[in-house]
Amino acid sequence: MNSVYRGRFAPSPTGPLHFGSLVAAVGSYLDARTQGGAWLLRMEDVDTTRNVPGAADSILATLEAFGFAWDGPVLWQSTRLEAYAAALEQLKTAGLAYPCACSRKEIADSATRPAADGGMLYSGTCRAGLAPGRAARAWRLRVENAAISFVDRVQGRQEQQLARDVGDFVLRRADGLFAYQLAVTVDDDFQGISDIVRGADLLASTPRQIWLQRCLGFATPAYAHLPVASNAAGEKLSKQTLAPALDSATAAASLCAALRFLGQPVPAELARASVPEVWAWAFAHWSFAALPRTPSIVPAAPG
Ligand code: GLU
Repeated sequence: MNSVYRGRFAPSPTGPLHFGSLVAAVGSYLDARTQGGAWLLRMEDVDTTRNVPGAADSILATLEAFGFAWDGPVLWQSTRLEAYAAALEQLKTAGLAYPCACSRKEIADSATRPAADGGMLYSGTCRAGLAPGRAARAWRLRVENAAISFVDRVQGRQEQQLARDVGDFVLRRADGLFAYQLAVTVDDDFQGISDIVRGADLLASTPRQIWLQRCLGFATPAYAHLPVASNAAGEKLSKQTLAPALDSATAAASLCAALRFLGQPVPAELARASVPEVWAWAFAHWSFAALPRTPSIVPAAPG
């Protein structure tokens, strides 16, 4: 038993689980379990504007029907607001977080280029303090003009220059909600996560999370970013396009499809097996080395 490995799956309750989330769940689960590690579940319901009523319950029921077993109680981000506030205070005290008065339009108007996450790069208007008469809307984290690099277990060496590629980023939004980057970093540390295995759509967020870990004095976990299903333009397929809700009645076949997507040589007859039989095959045959080392895969057309 490897008591050091602690993995996690962290769905957002913005809708029912779909194939893309299943791929991330299967990859993180098998990486954890085949190393004797723990696997924790966190419900990322911090962005209350995106939560869909009933989605969290439906995700938990689907995970159970698909045979996932997690360690300990589910951690709900909605119960963690005090911890996020404390982290923000720590960053303010250290002079790393500052208030920003800019509206979305002002940011877009002053930006010279897009940021790595597709938004507009913040030009740093409020970095040196709020202009007279301007009120704080959001809180941002100062980034350094230095490269942040890490070696992803699947995607290899990654590097981002936060000042150039992302800019000072938001920790607490103008609507008062804590940002994903802060919540995920605080919770991964709180849950003692050693290994983060998730979709490569989050690859560009990882340097921001590493920077936050450094600012908060946290250890940096190991990262493995799994390929995500994309269209020909390399855009992640949305729930609407590729991903109908998973159907528990065909759980074994969906698990086989997720394993195949992750490069595992699933025997054809396994699709007709039971869910425990699919897991037994997966535990016995899981090969990390077989994972496709590409951030996105265009799935073949069905049929
Ligand atoms: N809650 C995020 C999502 O569903 C995942 C966060 C993570 O794995 O770091 O996209």
